[in-house]
Amino acid sequence: MNGERDGRVELTVLGGFLGSGKTTWLRHTLHSGAIDDVLVIVNEAAEVPVDDALFPSGGRLRVLAGGCACCDARDRLVAMLRETCDLRTRSDQQTPPPERIVLETSGLADPGPILDAIRTDPVLIHHLKVDEIIIAIDAIYGLDQIQHEPLTLRQIETADRLVVTKVDASNADDLARLLATLLQLNPGAFISGAIMGSEAPLPKFSEAEPVPVGPPGSQPEQITATRLDLDEDTDWPAFSVWLSALLHARGNDIMRVKGVVHTPAGRLLLQSVRKTVQQPEIIPKEGAKDTKDDNSVVVIGRGYRAEDLRKSLQHFTGAGVDRRAG
Ligand SMILES: [Zn+2]
Repeated sequence: MNGERDGRVELTVLGGFLGSGKTTWLRHTLHSGAIDDVLVIVNEAAEVPVDDALFPSGGRLRVLAGGCACCDARDRLVAMLRETCDLRTRSDQQTPPPERIVLETSGLADPGPILDAIRTDPVLIHHLKVDEIIIAIDAIYGLDQIQHEPLTLRQIETADRLVVTKVDASNADDLARLLATLLQLNPGAFISGAIMGSEAPLPKFSEAEPVPVGPPGSQPEQITATRLDLDEDTDWPAFSVWLSALLHARGNDIMRVKGVVHTPAGRLLLQSVRKTVQQPEIIPKEGAKDTKDDNSVVVIGRGYRAEDLRKSLQHFTGAGVDRRAG
């Protein structure tokens, strides 16, 4: 939850497999005041009441029940978000809109289609900014889920932040293997640990072996993060054509693209999840925590070589691409 304010409501998507401890983590985070002026939307795939006493009294809570926000309840989610954002444009507002929405998805939700629905909605694109995708991973069952539940993999691959919960319940070796596996699956995500929602230290895991992922006997290609450093004089129209062509051709292999670039239009935040490119956002230089990573784009995916990615970009833009990082 680290974005720069631009007047839009910021959305945090919190997901994770069934029983991964996301509710506990969210409740604790809200109670500790780490997020204020928030509307929490809890998505329950089944028609079960959510105990709103569990959430702070100052905060607002809405429940999206009886369907999953990534599939059968996706339209209802979009309608609920539009309604919330609508508060911003009404002058007679009794209830001002929240600054932030946290969507706690059901344990069976794939964040990808949710983000697609939000980012392709002509109304929400102007009023809502997806700030962060947080995925909770169970320290005890996480490894097993990674090996047997394709949904867990999709959740992990789309995350900006992975919170490993119940770290006190796992032994240090298993935990280190889980962490090494998470790092291999999503090298771009920030990984932290939690016990009952409070931040907890993680063991060192640089020596640990990641577990094999994928169908038995198969050797899935490793997911890598490739950083492309761009010249100040990069041809932006050519760059965006390149990016669309890349995602169109390799969208299933490329999980995320993220970066801040300097263009004639300003400082732009570029982001994609799978094949969906978020409308580039202009972000002010003022208030930026640091700009040392500007003019670089990180591509996270598999099935290509970093060198080929750079060559293809160079071919499209005609500009030199810096080779500082791998
Ligand atoms: Zn779903």
